[in-house]
Amino acid sequence: MILGILKEPSPETRVSLHPEAVKVFTAAGNKILIEKGAGSTAFLSDEVYSEAGAEVKERTEVFKDAEMVFQISPIAAEEHQLLSKGKFLIGVYQPLVARELMQTLAKTGVTLFSMDSIPRITRAQSMDVLSSMSTVSGYKAVLLAAANLPRFFPMLMTAAGTIAPAKVLVIGAGVAGLQAIATAKRLGAVVEAFDTRPSVKEQVESLGGKFVEVPGAVEDKSAGGYAVEQSEEYKQKQSEMLEKSIVKSDVVITTALIPGRKAPVLVTHAMLEKMKSGAVVVDLAAANGGNCEGSVNNEIVSVEGVTIIGNSSLPASMPEDASKMYSKNVQNLLKLLLKDDKLNLNFEDEIIKGTCITHDGAIVYEPLLK
Ligand code: NAD
Repeated sequence: MILGILKEPSPETRVSLHPEAVKVFTAAGNKILIEKGAGSTAFLSDEVYSEAGAEVKERTEVFKDAEMVFQISPIAAEEHQLLSKGKFLIGVYQPLVARELMQTLAKTGVTLFSMDSIPRITRAQSMDVLSSMSTVSGYKAVLLAAANLPRFFPMLMTAAGTIAPAKVLVIGAGVAGLQAIATAKRLGAVVEAFDTRPSVKEQVESLGGKFVEVPGAVEDKSAGGYAVEQSEEYKQKQSEMLEKSIVKSDVVITTALIPGRKAPVLVTHAMLEKMKSGAVVVDLAAANGGNCEGSVNNEIVSVEGVTIIGNSSLPASMPEDASKMYSKNVQNLLKLLLKDDKLNLNFEDEIIKGTCITHDGAIVYEPLLK
């Protein structure tokens, strides 16, 4: 097969396939084309790609010759004409949000695989870009908080006095939240965490965090590990209990998401007013409406003396390792799609069926057919 790596549009800094993947695919007999400079923002030069076996080309040539085209961000509208039946496109498309775009792409005939739709089942863990990118976000959120906090994270006993450790509260103990807990603990903070899924208590405690318990949460084990909407009564109780933790925290990291819905507001303006001056909130749900009132995606704002960092695209701030992880996820999906380096589109396979959005001129992604 001929695989083509495109340069991402700004502000994306990651690259979809890492040179390590290029080596594996070329060794298996595939040809890899890469757009000039595609890896530069991830500190991966054209020379490194050439050494790995890729051919450096102009963007138009990559589009023309590649059978499988890789770009993390959606392809721009003016390039849709370059897509056609028989070509494959692999990226992150959020099909349930971008419904109209899916119709348009289906009409081009392209076969689209959206990496964010990988089913969250054990067999697909090695392909799960939502998890790998959440790992990056959780880690980086803590570093950003530490860099913006006017206080230390660890406890210090110095000749100039004793400094108490920072108190960190992580709201939402999914993949990003657990990584944030682990990172904040490594930096020496005292960490509390809260989630509406009581089953994560054990995971929080195994990382050295204290789980904030709010009795009465509804957890749906059939929701694939995701949170479900809670009753108004529970939300009220949760808000009261969380407020106690929020106002004594130096740092609050929010990661709470409910699939297909706007992110729940968990840190209100009234709570910000009661927080310590200089405290930092990092809102990873900023792009979905935000967990913190007043947060703005991709901006740092100050509200009532609290610094609020809204950022839902932290993987782009660590492009080298984020690219390596994304690329490994893609490589593992391709192991399924290519058998003996020939295309093997087996729609009986739950992963292929669950990730393929358009094929043969139509939308084939079940959640969009309902
Ligand atoms: P996510 O990004 O959708 O949500 C982040 C966290 O926010 C979740 O833990 C959720 O319970 C929590 N949350 C939602 N509303 C909240 C509220 N009001 N208050 C507090 N917390 C709230 O989730 P995610 O991190 O991508 O994944 C969640 C879970 O899914 C994982 O912890 C894991 O159990 C499971 N999972 C399984 C696989 C797999 O088997 N392949 C892969 C990834 C994740």
